[in-house]
Amino acid sequence: MYAEVFDSQSVAAVRQQASVAQKIVLLSHMNADGDACGSILGCTLMLDSATKAQSVTPILPNGCPKTFEWLPASDRILSGEQQREHCEALIEEAELIVCLDFNVPSRIDFLQEALVKSKAFKVLIDHHHNPAKDCFDIVFSDPSISSTCELMLWLAIELWGRQHLNAEVARCLYTGLRTDTGGFAFSCNQPSCFDAAALLVSYNIHPAEIHNRIVNTFTYNRMMFYGFAISKRLEVFPAQRVALFTFSLEDQLQYGVTGEDMEGLVNYTLMMQEIEVGALVREEPNRTKVSLRSKYDVDVNIMAQKLGGGGHTKAAGATSQMSLTEIVAAVKQLLGVANQEPNKNYTVA
Ligand code: 5GP
Ligand code: MN
Repeated sequence: MYAEVFDSQSVAAVRQQASVAQKIVLLSHMNADGDACGSILGCTLMLDSATKAQSVTPILPNGCPKTFEWLPASDRILSGEQQREHCEALIEEAELIVCLDFNVPSRIDFLQEALVKSKAFKVLIDHHHNPAKDCFDIVFSDPSISSTCELMLWLAIELWGRQHLNAEVARCLYTGLRTDTGGFAFSCNQPSCFDAAALLVSYNIHPAEIHNRIVNTFTYNRMMFYGFAISKRLEVFPAQRVALFTFSLEDQLQYGVTGEDMEGLVNYTLMMQEIEVGALVREEPNRTKVSLRSKYDVDVNIMAQKLGGGGHTKAAGATSQMSLTEIVAAVKQLLGVANQEPNKNYTVA
C-alpha cells in the first residue's frame, strides 16, 4: 500500500525503542487541529497496547481544543500552558518522544527548549515541508501524503501489523484524514488516502457521525460572527484574484469568539469563483496570526515563510509580533494588492 516510503532500518529502530522505553511522551503543535489531535491520540492508544511502557503521555502546548474533546482518550492530553513544569519534566525524563504533525521545534512554542534539550530518542512523523532533520533521531516525513494521521496508520502497520488497530484508534486517525483533506476535497490525490479511509471505516466507525462532530458544531454566536465577517470584514480584489479577512481583538470580543471559532473561515474566500488565494489575518492578545489558502498553483507556503511561518503548498500560516496594521500591510504586499482598493461592489459573475 504505502510501505515503500519507509526505510526498514528506521522502522526497526523505532520498533526497538518502543519495545524498551519505559517513559514515552507524544507531542504535537500549538493550536492543535484535527490531524494533530487525531494523530497524537491514535498513536497514544496504539503505544498503550503495543508497548510495556510505564507511561505514555500525550502533551499539547495549549491543550486539547474543545472541538476535539469528543475524541477517545482526549482527557489524557496534558496542556503545556496549564502544567508547564510537569510537562517539561516529562519531556526531560522521557526515553522516547514521538513528535507528530509539525516540522520544526518552534511549532510547539514554549516547549521547544525542553524537546531540544531532552536526551530521549526522538521520532518525527509529519507531512510538512522542510523537516528539521537534525533535531530528531528518525524522521518519517512525506509532504505529498494527505495527513499525519494517514502516515501514522501506514507506519503503525509497518511496525506492528494491524494488531493494535481498533475502533477507537480508527476514530482518531480518520478524524485527521477527514480534517486535513477538507472532507476528501483537497490533499487527497493519492489513492493511498482512500485506501486509508476504507481501512479505517472497516473498524466500524461512522463517517457521517464524525462529520457532524467536526463540521456541524456552530454556536449561534459563531454563526452571527460569520455573517459579520463576510459582510463587514472581507476585502475582495477580483483583478488580483485575492480576498482577505481581517479581525481585530475587538471584533472577536464583540461576538464572543476566539481563534478556534475561525477555524475554516479562511476557506470561504476560495468559494468565490474567481478567487485563487485567500487570507485571514487576526489579532490575538500578544501576537497576530495569518492563515493563507490557495486554490490552484500559487504556493502559499513560500508566502508564509516570508512572514516567519510555513505549512503546505495550499494551506499555510504564520504567527507574528507585528501589529494588526503592520501584518495586514505585509500580507497585502505578498498578495500583490498593496495600495489597491478592494472592490466593494464585486459580485461573482
Ligand atoms: P491554519 O491557517 O489553519 O492556522 O494553518 C494552516 C497550516 O499552516 C497548518 O497546517 C500549519 O502547517 C501551517 N501554520 C499555521 N500557523 C503556522 C505558524 O505559526 N508557523 C508555521 N511554521 N506554520 C504554521
Ligand atoms: Mn496535518
